[in-house]
Amino acid sequence: MNTIPRYIALALATGASFGAATIALGQETIYARPERMVERIHALSRFGANPEGGVSRVAFSDADLAGRTYIMELMRNADLDVRVDTAGNIIGRRAGRHDGLPPILFGSHIDSVPGGGNYDGDVGVIAAIEVIELLNENGIETRHPLEVVSFTDEEGGLTGSRAIIGKLTEEAMQVISHSGMAIRDGIRHVGGDPDRLDLAVRKPGELAAYIELHIEQGAILDEENIDIGVVEGIVGIRWWDVTVEGMANHAGTTPMNRRRDAMVTAAELTLAINRIASELEGRQVATVGRIQASPGAPNVIPGRVTMSLEIRDLDAAKLQRVFDLIEAEAGRIAEARSTLIQFEEVDVASPPAPTDDRMRDIIASAADELGLSYRRMPSGAGHDAQDLTLIAPTGMIFVPSVDGISHSPQEFTSAQDMANGASVLLWTVLAVDGGALDTASGE
Ligand SMILES: [Zn+2]
Repeated sequence: MNTIPRYIALALATGASFGAATIALGQETIYARPERMVERIHALSRFGANPEGGVSRVAFSDADLAGRTYIMELMRNADLDVRVDTAGNIIGRRAGRHDGLPPILFGSHIDSVPGGGNYDGDVGVIAAIEVIELLNENGIETRHPLEVVSFTDEEGGLTGSRAIIGKLTEEAMQVISHSGMAIRDGIRHVGGDPDRLDLAVRKPGELAAYIELHIEQGAILDEENIDIGVVEGIVGIRWWDVTVEGMANHAGTTPMNRRRDAMVTAAELTLAINRIASELEGRQVATVGRIQASPGAPNVIPGRVTMSLEIRDLDAAKLQRVFDLIEAEAGRIAEARSTLIQFEEVDVASPPAPTDDRMRDIIASAADELGLSYRRMPSGAGHDAQDLTLIAPTGMIFVPSVDGISHSPQEFTSAQDMANGASVLLWTVLAVDGGALDTASGE
């Protein structure tokens, strides 16, 4: 391995912005190898393969254990020093020239939802290993140690990443996972120690950065034919239980103008929620996903309706504003219908998790340098990265999901798109290693 990175001329902009920074990797730029990545994705999909062509590799299952063994094998073959932390996270470390520096962490997860696909999470882990292979093949040594991570049980509640930030509670560990095992037992089953989670914790400053490559799980990149998504953050989620009070009465004898029909109020409110979220500038979303009328008989005017309201946005203030508008409109609807509408917030504890501004710029520069198109976008789905934003400068890279399908055996991302993402990941890791976070100003 070279002690001086001759292949990198890290020409950082002297101005205030990182925009002009370039990394020239010798004469030619290093690209990830699509055929190697796709071969590994296929190999990984054998573990927990379902008849529909996807995987059911829920965390802590035999399939998960087999998949984990395969990943650890790939890591060892790439000369990584592999360990399982007390939360069950698989971590493969590559020493840095200054090994006392905080490591640059990157990766994702390999567990799936029941009836899942072959790309969600998997692409991020395989790409992280690809980055190590490319560094090895090109004799590149980094200043910082690098750590490739495959997080435990992402789909069951971000278990592994929550433990790393010190927020995996005993209550969360009591939850019975899809494997049938309580998460606590699952952690032990994959080689962790739920009684010593403190040993898995990374404090702010202990990681130089966290970077995650993931499939978009939406259709924006695919539809717009864009190579790379520069993730601005993971949207915050707020939930409310909404109760509409009217008056139950005989459906035959109560004239239309004397009704206090909770269902009609709920219907109007549902339409208003959809209209408010659609008409406002921005990318907020609002959903009524559950509704129940009581007493719930065909011959009784509903006296009471309970329904859910969910709002998501990257900006907490914006999210509040959407709710305020809905609440004000609800007041008008309730009054006009002689009913009552009450909102009670449910604690889902999922605040918006913006990525690091500088990291977004670095990823955008990486795409530019590699001749790839990109756009900035929020993530509507949750990821381990949202936890890591609390303790480290975090960046996230999206690659296209064909037709936006995910959590399904139909999930698909092309070999070239995966390799594009891995190339951007490599560039980003090297830029961070070269000090780009110190020179980048962010937006
Ligand atoms: Zn995922």
